[in-house]
Amino acid sequence: MNANTPAPLLEARSLSKSYGGRPACRQVSLSLDAGEVLAIVGESGSGKSTLLNLLSGRLVPDTGSIRYRMRDGVARDLARMPEAERRLLARTDWGFVHQDAALGLRMNVSAGGNIGERLMAVGGRHYGDIRATAANWLTRVEIAVDRIDDKPTAYSGGMRQRLQIARNLVTSPRLVFMDEPTGGLDVSVQARLLDLIRGLVADLGLAVVLVTHDLAVARLLSHRIIVMKEGHVIESGLTDRVLDDPQAPYTQLLVSSVLAA
Ligand code: ADP
Ligand code: MG
Repeated sequence: MNANTPAPLLEARSLSKSYGGRPACRQVSLSLDAGEVLAIVGESGSGKSTLLNLLSGRLVPDTGSIRYRMRDGVARDLARMPEAERRLLARTDWGFVHQDAALGLRMNVSAGGNIGERLMAVGGRHYGDIRATAANWLTRVEIAVDRIDDKPTAYSGGMRQRLQIARNLVTSPRLVFMDEPTGGLDVSVQARLLDLIRGLVADLGLAVVLVTHDLAVARLLSHRIIVMKEGHVIESGLTDRVLDDPQAPYTQLLVSSVLAA
């Protein structure tokens, strides 16, 4: 490697994970550069969420390793990072957006509190500043500021997802993991959310690992795609190439079934 080329932001080698002897992720290697959006696609049960949970440190792999380039430029092996440091990383330099907002939000804490809590994790102490930043982020995700004291239980599905995104982005993370962020929402709500995500990712230069079973979502948001089947990566490449000229028969089937739908 050229000495001037930075290491990838995230690099996984040979990740495997089984549940009770049944492999869900098999020998997956990948790398992600800063500012890059990688989509993991494949049908339900193919191992997408398992891979995402491994990459984000939420699951421990049976084999393989993950390295992350810290803000100081040093690539660190996640398995060797002290637990407290990894947790701080996950709450500050990373985000994780769940399909189910109830997993990513504190449903009984106000919207402002949901955002403010993250700011406090990065040292925010002044109440007025935290509230002003939370209000600013609500506006950025198109939630009226007069809803700041409402709990997410009073929000619609689309608003909950937008709040979850605000909570995750308020610490200026460099890397955000998303698991079916638009899944389970009405089509019109999905479209608006996708536009919002696309704008924020571009404005903030975020790196994203996005799990989706929806190729249209991958097309809209990602630069590169990996296609999973039964825990294996069976194809990977630039998004337009994979979707316009799929090489693996399985990818051809996925793409043509969307066209036929
Ligand atoms: P996807 O996100 O592509 O739908 P998953 O990663 O959730 O796929 O699941 C991959 C496989 O692993 C599936 O066969 C699923 O049933 C199994 N699996 C996932 N999570 C668990 C778990 N916690 N315990 C047992 N099996 C699991
Ligand atoms: Mg999944």
